[in-house]
Amino acid sequence: MSEANIIDGKAIAEKFRNKIADDVRQLKNIHNLTPGLAVVLVGSDPASEVYVNNKQKMTTAAGMKSFEHKLPGDTTQKELLTLIDGLNTDPNIHGILVQLPLPEQINANIILAEVDAKKDVDGFHVLNVGKLFVGAPSLVPCTPLGCLTLIKTELGNNLSGKKAVILGRSNIVGKPMAALLLEENCTVTIVHSKTSNMQDECRQADILVVAVGKPNFVKKNWVKEGAVVIDVGINRTNDKTEGKGKLVGDVDYEGVKSVAASITPVPGGVGPMTIACLLQNTVTAACLQNDIELPIQQ
Ligand code: NAP
Repeated sequence: MSEANIIDGKAIAEKFRNKIADDVRQLKNIHNLTPGLAVVLVGSDPASEVYVNNKQKMTTAAGMKSFEHKLPGDTTQKELLTLIDGLNTDPNIHGILVQLPLPEQINANIILAEVDAKKDVDGFHVLNVGKLFVGAPSLVPCTPLGCLTLIKTELGNNLSGKKAVILGRSNIVGKPMAALLLEENCTVTIVHSKTSNMQDECRQADILVVAVGKPNFVKKNWVKEGAVVIDVGINRTNDKTEGKGKLVGDVDYEGVKSVAASITPVPGGVGPMTIACLLQNTVTAACLQNDIELPIQQ
């Protein structure tokens, strides 16, 4: 079998962002509305700072407004709740993103529940999670939404009857990914740390989405020939030849690409799509809050 097609998440995300920028122009021209995204960062975790800066750059590049709230690491839960209440009622802000993880004095579940569900561009609010699971999604978590877009670029829009296996059951990736693929009429299996026959399950997959947070975890012999493999993992190894340590995914890329039909690289696969979907969710949120139908009319 020939080598897998490498799914160019960077290029696909760029195309997607260009389309979002068009929608933003239409919203301004037709409805005099500029979507605004507030990003809240508590503390100075270096990885979170990089993510937040990237999100802000992309937001303004797409023609939207970006509002930044960088708070000290000793911010109290009450102070953060007060900030969120203010953002909830600010008409210039259509999306609110609270960068995780939060410092230990703050309960993330309480904070995420405080964000107005209509502005919850991360799709983490229980109301949005519930909507996703009853098949009435509005704001869907960005990473699984990005993964679904990548899967459809490979397999087309009709995923009906495909066997999808998701490795990992986190609230931000694994579970919403399962709900999205179920909605696409896939037969979905979620594999996790207590699954007894993990490798056999993975070998059944036409679509394998891996989100475990363990470098090079999935090996070539776990993957069915011709499968589409989406690697969500971002792990930094001790290999310092490139400065900070090399980034690798959860999939043994070199091995798996000799059996898969297509595979996402790390970096340059799922990561760029996550940010693009955040921008998409901000446009969706702005439309929902202003009774504007999607897709936006040209
Ligand atoms: P998480 O919350 O730590 O969840 C990891 C999941 O993997 C859990 O469900 C866990 O099972 C399962 N798992 C861990 N070890 C396992 C093992 N040995 N065998 C089988 N299952 C195992 O992680 P996450 O937030 O979903 O993130 C996963 C990875 O994706 C991380 O590398 C993260 O950095 C990356 N990520 C990337 C993006 C992006 O934009 N590219 C976005 C989000 C996350 P249990 O539930 O049984 O413990």
